[in-house]
Amino acid sequence: MKPKVLLPERWRDPIIYGKALEILRSVADVEYISEERFDEQLAEAEGMVGYGVNEEILQKAPKLKVVARYGVGYDDCDVEALTRHKVYLVHTPGVLSDAVADMTIALILACNRKLVQADKYVRERWAKEASRFSYYGVDLKGKTIGIIGLGRIGYEVAKRCVRGFDMKVIYYDIYPNEEAEIELGAERKSLEEVLRESDFVSIHVPLTPQTRGFIKEKHLRMMKKTAYLINTSRGSVIDQKALVKVLEEGAIAGAGLDVFEKEPVPLDDPLLKLDNVVLTPHIASLTREARQAMAICDAKNIVAVLKGEVPPPNVVPEQNGLVFKK
Ligand code: NAD
Repeated sequence: MKPKVLLPERWRDPIIYGKALEILRSVADVEYISEERFDEQLAEAEGMVGYGVNEEILQKAPKLKVVARYGVGYDDCDVEALTRHKVYLVHTPGVLSDAVADMTIALILACNRKLVQADKYVRERWAKEASRFSYYGVDLKGKTIGIIGLGRIGYEVAKRCVRGFDMKVIYYDIYPNEEAEIELGAERKSLEEVLRESDFVSIHVPLTPQTRGFIKEKHLRMMKKTAYLINTSRGSVIDQKALVKVLEEGAIAGAGLDVFEKEPVPLDDPLLKLDNVVLTPHIASLTREARQAMAICDAKNIVAVLKGEVPPPNVVPEQNGLVFKK
């Protein structure tokens, strides 16, 4: 009998997930997760594409060998519990970096050139008022982008800023990124310097115990009054209440946000009342290419574990070098 692998419902879509399903079906029986039968399904599953995997779920899944996170961030999964239960956690680093970097640039441009307000103005007021001169932006050429967390996605953002827009890159990271320094002239600085000197600050650190609430009110107040904050990493990296406060005061020019402390954003969230923000619903990796590649990456990672390849490819750093036998 083939091992069982559980998949989210939306993996039925053949356009995005067809190739990944083919890879999985070569070694496993695939089942779609059903809310009513989840416990029963967990009891038999050896692999799973899952979110929010915790102790409670793991206790119901004695045969589980691998959980594949459909994405690069895995802050919603309890890595300690997974390790205790000898379950590999694999993810999809790299294959979505272009998509997320493109979205970051889209938010930079949308904020700077006031695309959302301008669109609204054309639809509602231009014909009546004919005054379009409140929509000034700045040239990106020569401006400074400050990247907080210059890893895979940060690098792609830096590349687009330098090669596409002739911008200068400064960055804050716990590790130096030599490639970015040599290839793109990126300069590593302290967090405070990056915040004070940048015209755009873009956040690309993972959400970890160290980065939760990392950007506090005092940090936001270090930014230039004309600067924009862009976040496509995780909402909880920024103190969102403090962000609303500085945006309301106009202490920074605005923000472009794809991620939030609470998702979906509640309809009464004060962020939604601000007109100096551009908001998107956590869709930075949502391109066909990225989503197909993520699915294929997950499928290959799962197959590797089911075939006994240890350690598997793309295992999360916390489990690097660990060998689980079940
Ligand atoms: P990465 O690991 O390649 O890069 C992260 C960088 O942050 C690394 O260079 C690391 O050294 C640095 N870093 C980690 N902790 C730090 C700290 N405390 N202080 C300073 N620097 C620190 O990761 P990546 O592939 O570039 O992805 C980054 C994050 O983007 C993911 O963890 C995920 O949360 C987020 N993401 C969001 C979306 C979306 O849809 N919005 C999609 C993909 C990824």
